[in-house]
Amino acid sequence: MFFLVALWLLFGFLSFGPAAFIFCYMRRKSKDSWPTRVDSDYKPRVSFLVPTYNESSIILLRLINLSRLKYPRDLMEVIVVDSNSSDDTVEIVKEFSGRGPPFSMKVLVENDRRGKSHALNYGLDYCQGDVIIISDADCFWPSDILEKAMPFLADPSVGAISGPKILLNSEQTWVTRVEESYLKWANVLRLGESIAGSTVFFEGGFSAFKKEAFDRFDPYGTGSDDCGTVIGVIQNNFRTMLVPEAGFYSAFPESFRGKLSIKLRRTNQLVRVFAKYLDLLVEGKVKTTKITVVPNTFLYLFSPMALVILIALTAFLVLNFPLLLVLFAFLIIPSIRFYLYEVLESNFLLFASTFAVLLGKRFSIWSQPEDRTGLTREALQRVNLI
Ligand code: GDP
Ligand code: MN
Repeated sequence: MFFLVALWLLFGFLSFGPAAFIFCYMRRKSKDSWPTRVDSDYKPRVSFLVPTYNESSIILLRLINLSRLKYPRDLMEVIVVDSNSSDDTVEIVKEFSGRGPPFSMKVLVENDRRGKSHALNYGLDYCQGDVIIISDADCFWPSDILEKAMPFLADPSVGAISGPKILLNSEQTWVTRVEESYLKWANVLRLGESIAGSTVFFEGGFSAFKKEAFDRFDPYGTGSDDCGTVIGVIQNNFRTMLVPEAGFYSAFPESFRGKLSIKLRRTNQLVRVFAKYLDLLVEGKVKTTKITVVPNTFLYLFSPMALVILIALTAFLVLNFPLLLVLFAFLIIPSIRFYLYEVLESNFLLFASTFAVLLGKRFSIWSQPEDRTGLTREALQRVNLI
């Protein structure tokens, strides 16, 4: 009995202790002043890479949104890379390009579909900018995003920046409210990590990479075009940072099913990303960013396993000593229930993904979220995005 309780305490600590410690540490860091030089005169040539696969319902709105950017016209180019969509995405893009948009535009069409990173790498060879910005079709930028974000790339030590995602439909359903609160604390963590060194989490909705800082998108084939590319930038000893000023807008699925399909794919990619980091750490090839790489590798690969063991132990103890249920009285408090639910859900997904990865399964092929109801013309107009 004593042994069991000791084991329970140990796994309780392994499941929550490191996460709580890292969160508190990074939250404190997030309040420190910005560590690198910011120069509002820094205006590099930028290339926007827009990957598309069957995006006819949204791509025109996205291009209109891009054409509202406040930035010198001769310093911008848009490169759309389509993977042979079966709808009329390419026709819509070409038609828009013919109307004389306020930037130069190229439309590239791959012969067949080999995934987003493959498409981005294809487009990369055509980019003339010094900074390459990935721009998902379903993510929308405020018109001053470049004015606000580019100054953070002025420092030569910074190789890439990303911005926080703002949900257009955060108040819609329980699912979007949970995502909103997840994003809130995730962004505090990423900001703290950036100030402490570098963050390993980037968002496909706004990720800007200096051309000199990376060779290919997702060089290790993790399936993640954003976080997977960050690995290469960190390997090249550049900083990668979340810039709070570079917020962009998108919507989140409103149903649980829609959420699950996105999260499953995303956690599968992240497990691959951290398996790669583990590899590189063991080989001594991560030099500059250990302060964030080591804790995240632990949180993403090992904490979920500890949590599953903790749950099994708890179930065993409660079945044998039902009185222990009293300990769960704290679940009466709604906010605790809410956070516990989030922690359990994300850890289960990570645990399942780790097994899927070990068994060689991939969920990285993208299928359009069933649910983009939040992305209407009206919703975009309301926040002045188109
Ligand atoms: P998200 O995480 O749900 O935003 O999904 P992804 O980041 O994987 O994909 C978002 C963007 O990539 C959208 O603009 C898609 O149209 C595009 N995309 C997804 N798969 C492909 C592909 O195979 N080829 C190309 N060219 N674009 C793709
Ligand atoms: Mn994305």
